[in-house]
Parts: sequence; structure tokens; C-alpha cells
Amino acid sequence: MIKVVKFGGSSLASAEQFRKVGDIVRADAKRRYVIPSAPGKRHKNDTKVTDMLYECYALAEADEDIKPMLRKIRARYNDIINGLKLRYNLDDEFKVIEQKFLEKAGSDYAASRGEYLNGLLMASYLGIEFIDAAEVIRFDRDGNFDVDTTNNILKQRLKKTERAVIPGFYGAKPDGSIQTFSRGGSDITGSIVAKACRADLYENWTDVSGFLITDPRIIKNPKGIKVITYKELRELSYMGATVLHEDAIFPVRKEGIPINIKNTNAPEDPGTFIVESTCQKPEFTITGIAGKKGFVAVNIEKDMMNSEIGFGRKVLAAFEENEISFEHTPSGIDTFTVFVHQEEFEGKEQSVLSAIHRLAEPDSIELEADLALVAVVGRGMKSTRGTAGRIFSALAHANVNVKMIDQGSSELNVIIGVSNEDFETAIQAIYDIFVITQL
Ligand code: ASP
Repeated sequence: MIKVVKFGGSSLASAEQFRKVGDIVRADAKRRYVIPSAPGKRHKNDTKVTDMLYECYALAEADEDIKPMLRKIRARYNDIINGLKLRYNLDDEFKVIEQKFLEKAGSDYAASRGEYLNGLLMASYLGIEFIDAAEVIRFDRDGNFDVDTTNNILKQRLKKTERAVIPGFYGAKPDGSIQTFSRGGSDITGSIVAKACRADLYENWTDVSGFLITDPRIIKNPKGIKVITYKELRELSYMGATVLHEDAIFPVRKEGIPINIKNTNAPEDPGTFIVESTCQKPEFTITGIAGKKGFVAVNIEKDMMNSEIGFGRKVLAAFEENEISFEHTPSGIDTFTVFVHQEEFEGKEQSVLSAIHRLAEPDSIELEADLALVAVVGRGMKSTRGTAGRIFSALAHANVNVKMIDQGSSELNVIIGVSNEDFETAIQAIYDIFVITQL
């Protein structure tokens, strides 16, 4: 059995955190491949090493003195080295890094050094081999991740290597230059490694015990989610629940490898399992509630709209022309509504309205701003009668006016439009009815 373990920045921010990680890795011999992030924040107002590196590289690009900033970055690693009493000297590494910064090796190269150096320290601390991600994670010439080349190289390399540390977040292009994934991309590296070695489990260690049913900034101490499917996760993360990089799902999902989100600071907590599918009954009818504020409803009316073929297409073309993506399109007999992000829409509203008039010739258009969308997600909804009834009676009791309802055909989610000011009340009401009273 093989487990791939990825540790996030806060799990590796200090010597103390490194020690916890060491204990976790040593506690289970199946944890064979370790993917570290760069050191993250040690406290709320701290700066991530990745951000320091970007800042430092910006100085290099502006031909300013980079030495003081490099010293600060180095101090972060020295603290870890000294705290762990490691015999490790980064003199030579920092000489190369300084040189490359001066040669303007690119901001991707700069940012990647956070993971690279942390990987060196982690390998030394654990006493296992270090594999540079530039050797095994490959991008093509245009900077797109090269799935097949990576998988072939990595598979062969890991066959020969019983245990290793592979830094997250970056890889190399065919010419050897360094390329990173988008921010938070060490999650993706972990997933790619799990796929290549056909791991039984991909453990993603962070500073929370998995996903919570809803946002703790809205509901105090919400319960955790024990098991969630990839599809449910996608719905919730789209609506703002973030713990894992979205692209981290694809490599393991295809292989049927589950992901377990775990807490480095509470390793005994079971965390959340993310699986392709499960017949385990969910604890509650709903798996999670997420949402976002800041939408506009563009309400379009036209008599006999229902018999006009192509009306929806013409309306949506007006949004496409203005490069605005739409979220939902609930419709009635003579009405058609398009939900869009307020921020995206505001600067272009008049141009969209005139395009709708030109293309679809409606009778009238009305705008309603400051709306929020709440997504109630759960595989359990499909087999439970009355879920929608419970949601809406809870909202009615809480005095929330429902402006839009959209149930996906998968019956995996119900999306509800409310005004921004009712957003928190709506989430509270839905949480209470399903999780607290469990009616
Ligand atoms: N260190 C990188 C970042 O801060 C990547 C990661 O942590 O996953 O985005």
C-alpha cells in the first residue's frame, strides 16, 4: 500500500511544524512520497515565503538591490534548520538563486525556490531521497502541463525509489526552464505523484480538519464533512468553499484514488474523504452549503417569448459579445432571466442592454442588483423526499424572500437566489433545519 502525502505551507512554516510533519510521516511506513509546499504563514500577519520570493524577483526585475530581501527569505529557512538542529548549509543554493535572479530567470523560477528549498530540508530531516520536481514534472513549450511525459518519467523514477521528497508547485519545460502551476499548485503535484505511483490514498495535510458543512465565518463551529464525492466538491468549491486546488482533483479522480484532507495540527481527526462515489449514507441529507454574494439578475420580458425559437440564444449572444459569463438562466413563459457577476457586469451594463435590444428585441429589461446565490449540495437529496420543501419552509420561517430557484438535473444541488442582505440568514436557516434539528 502506498500513500502520497502533501503538506501545505502552514504545516511547514516553522521547525515546530516540521517536527509534526516528521512525526506524521514516520508514524506510517506507507507514507512513502512526500510533497512539501513552501513555508507559509507562522501567524496571521506573517508573509508566505512564496510571496517574499515574488516580491524579491520584482526587485531584481527593477534592477534594485535584492540582497536584504534574500536575507529575509534565507532567515526563514535558517530558523527551520536551527530549530531542527539539522546539519544543512544553504550557502551554495542561495548563491545560485541570487545569480539566477540577477540573470532574470523568470518569476516562476523565483517562486519555485520556496518549494525547492523546503524539499531539500524535508528530505534531509526525514533522511530520504530528494527528487527535484524539474526532473519529473513536465510542461510543454507553451507552458501547458504535459500529462503523458510527466506520467512516464515519474512512473519510472518512482519505481526505483522506495521513499522520496518531491517539492510541489513546479516543474520544467523541455528547455529546462522552470514553470509553476497556479497559486496553491502543490496540491496538483501531490495528485500527479499519487497517480504515477498508483497510490491507494492521497493524503493532503493542511491546517483544518477537512471540509466543513458551511463557512465558519457565517456559522460558528459548523460540523465537518466526513465523505464527499468529487462532484459535490466541485459544486461547493465553485461556490467558494476552498481547501484544495480545483485542478488537484483530475489526476486522482481518473484513477479512482481517494483524497483524504487531514489536519497537521490534529492528526487524529479523520478529516474529509473525497471519493468518486460511495454508497455510504451521508450523515445529513445535505453535504454542504456554500454561496456567494454580488450577482445581478437581468430580467428580460417579451410577449410570446415561448413561441420564438432562438430567443435564449440571442439574449446569451449579447453577453458573449461583451465577454461576460452567465451563472444561471431561470425562465418563465414570457420572461428570461440571466444571472451574472455584478463586478463583471457593472462596467458593461449599457453595452449589454443595447446588445440585447438589438439582438432579441424584447419588450423590456429590468435589472436587479445585490443578489446572492446559495448552493445546497448533497448526493443524499436525490433519494430523500421533501428536501426542497424543507429548504423553502426554513427560509420562509426566517423571513427570507426567495428570488430564484434552480435545481440541477443531477438533483445534486439546489441553487437559491436571495438578496445580499439575506445571505447569512438563509445559510443559517438551511444549516439549522438539516444539521441542527435534522428534521
Ligand atoms: N507555495 C505556493 C503558493 O503559495 C504553492 C502552494 O503552496 O501550493 O501558492
